[in-house]
Amino acid sequence: MTARIIDGKTIAANLRADVGRDVAGLPFQPGLAVVLVGEDPASAVYVRNKHKATLEAGMASFEHRLAATTSEADLLALVAKLNADDKVDGILVQLPLPKHIDATKVLDAIDPAKDVDGFHAVNAGLLASGRPGLVPCTPAGCMRLIASLGQDIAGKHAVLVGRSNIVGKPMAHLLLAADCTVTVAHSKTANLSALCRKADILVAAVGRPEMVKGDWIKPGAIVIDVGINRVATADGKGRLVGDVDYEAALPIAGAITSVPGGVGPMTIACLLANTLMAAKARRGA
Ligand code: NDP
Repeated sequence: MTARIIDGKTIAANLRADVGRDVAGLPFQPGLAVVLVGEDPASAVYVRNKHKATLEAGMASFEHRLAATTSEADLLALVAKLNADDKVDGILVQLPLPKHIDATKVLDAIDPAKDVDGFHAVNAGLLASGRPGLVPCTPAGCMRLIASLGQDIAGKHAVLVGRSNIVGKPMAHLLLAADCTVTVAHSKTANLSALCRKADILVAAVGRPEMVKGDWIKPGAIVIDVGINRVATADGKGRLVGDVDYEAALPIAGAITSVPGGVGPMTIACLLANTLMAAKARRGA
């Protein structure tokens, strides 16, 4: 048996097209502001891709590129300005921020109604208490990928490897809301491989290349690989791999995402969906 490949690229393209159609029918243009501090190359690529996707969906894109030496006070002042700007429906501050800036303070300064990354304590609290709010894009994308399989996941055992605020923890709440039985594993978890083998749904969000081996996977399981890791290759170019040993998992899993082409494209698509949602809610559409 070979796993069904969950095609994140196509699912994300469909979602982006849906958002674009919805935007075209609105009497106003939703706007997304993205703030990049410093010159981290990976962050610069993410910001460029977000800008392009925002324009393609028919939304306004406001990019703010600040020097790595920008003070926390200046960044907070920009966030306050964007909070007050009526053309801006969503605000995203690209992480990581330089070390001299307190990221939590900056994220909590964003108006929760414009917090399209869903990282504000208010939105995290709403999610944790099962109430509607803006949900972090990567876990929201993972849920859409799982939903695309059309399976009833109520009562299934989901194991998440990773407990970050941006992936693991919000994903746990989303799976709980979908009536899964959820186990959250992390770097101190004992017998991780045995735990993973019990998972009907296995979500790997660790940041360690191919850490999850083929024999950690329960036959037929749904495997969602969030990890994005660049590994060296002989030609010096490097290549991207996930947190799951994809080739080894393929004959065992029931369904699996690839890296690239799985979760990654969903993150931007869900950012656009969140911006649309925030714009409609704020403008009463
Ligand atoms: P973090 O570094 O914030 O969290 C990693 C988590 O993995 C932590 O909870 C950590 O445990 C756990 N962990 C680390 N080592 C082990 C181990 N040996 N065994 C079990 N658990 C371990 O990462 P993120 O959540 O931000 O990202 C995870 C991965 O997902 C990265 O590769 C990142 O690039 C990728 N990513 C991809 C996105 C996409 O759009 N596709 C978006 C966001 C992230 P502990 O808490 O104990 O330290």
